[in-house]
Amino acid sequence: MYNQPNPLEVKVLTRRFNLPNSHRIETYLANDGYKAVEKAFGMTQDEIINEVKASGLRGRGGAGFPTGMKWGFLPRQSPKPKYIMVNADESEPGTCKDRLLMEFDPHQLIEGVIIAGLAVGAQQGYIYIRGEFRYLIEHMDRAIAEAYHRGYLGENIFGRGIKFHLATHSGAGAYECGEESALLESFEGKRGNPRIRPPFPAVAGAYQCPTILNNVETFCAVPSIILGGAGYFAGLGSPKNGGTRLFCISGHVNKPGVYELPMGFNLMRMINEVGGGVRGGKKLKAVIPGGSSCPVLKAEECDLAMDFDTLAAAKSMLGSGGVVVMDEDTCMVKAALRIMRFYAHESCGWCIPCREGTTWLRKLLQRFHDGGGVRSDIVLIGDLSKNMLGRTFCPLGDAAALPTISIVEKFREEFEAHLDGKPCPYEKTSRLVAA
Ligand code: SF4
Repeated sequence: MYNQPNPLEVKVLTRRFNLPNSHRIETYLANDGYKAVEKAFGMTQDEIINEVKASGLRGRGGAGFPTGMKWGFLPRQSPKPKYIMVNADESEPGTCKDRLLMEFDPHQLIEGVIIAGLAVGAQQGYIYIRGEFRYLIEHMDRAIAEAYHRGYLGENIFGRGIKFHLATHSGAGAYECGEESALLESFEGKRGNPRIRPPFPAVAGAYQCPTILNNVETFCAVPSIILGGAGYFAGLGSPKNGGTRLFCISGHVNKPGVYELPMGFNLMRMINEVGGGVRGGKKLKAVIPGGSSCPVLKAEECDLAMDFDTLAAAKSMLGSGGVVVMDEDTCMVKAALRIMRFYAHESCGWCIPCREGTTWLRKLLQRFHDGGGVRSDIVLIGDLSKNMLGRTFCPLGDAAALPTISIVEKFREEFEAHLDGKPCPYEKTSRLVAA
């Protein structure tokens, strides 16, 4: 299936992570750094975009939209300035990989952004970084300064007579600002509410100008695609799901961590061979495959390929690559409660189904877990969640509803076990969450 003999050893985006001073420009230059952008200078804009399209790269932020196609939507003939915007507002529970890409190989990201700028004729890029990543903002600023010093950014990049500037911009720690249109509002200094779309950012993004907006990991894949070729990158993954991606394995495994694996890698192998198996020899109960907004999989559903299409067929999502493993001692009612507490807190409050729905679901789940639930609450929790689906301005409403619906449907017996004032049967053993 893969071009490589051992998919566990395939390293593309993280291949420089273990080098001394991997974040410095000297290390990057000594290890293929900025060769892809030199190659891109010899390509037309269409050739760069077509190469990204053919690579099968799909957005690593969660939605999995084909990156080359997104770039192709940008109206290059527009007289307005064009912008490149990096979404570095990583905050999906269970996901912690963009921070590593910026920490260990910031120049890979910078090179990917420059290539995107060449592809669409942009002269300015921004990296919107989550506010809590204060140290990373300073880290990226240092890397950007190195690139300016070498003439890779500025008024005449690489001596090619082309202008491209890049700067960081700090968010303020709102999950909602990871949503692309809310990010743009926040970037422009406004409250981080999402925008009504269309128009999409490719047409009316930053300052209502054409904007390419992608996740950190997506941009980081671009130099490898240009340098190695679309066929090389596509061949690393599964059909229509090119390349590798960084999976963040957390929860009840022996070796939690961030691992780069080919797209399409089997989830059970990921848990057992990469994550070291379920902690304490316990049985696997459930897995959130792509961050907290994804429907959960029961243990018996986990023998599948981790790519966008296979997860969609299994009625879940690959999302942002946050694989949260839960063992047999996990209370799924409490897991649903923990997830809903997050979404109720992070709802921006702009639309009623999300603002009210997440708050009422949090209260209902709390009462249920505390032993105050009644049988009709089980149906009510499911109904409230379903009434949020597709009725909100941005995907946060769905993100809150989908895991809840899946937990109610797949673990109804655990809700039944909390009825009639019974204490939580897992209270002494559950380690997933603290109330
Ligand atoms: Fe705000 Fe939630 Fe509506 Fe999104 S779905 S706009 S987060 S209230």
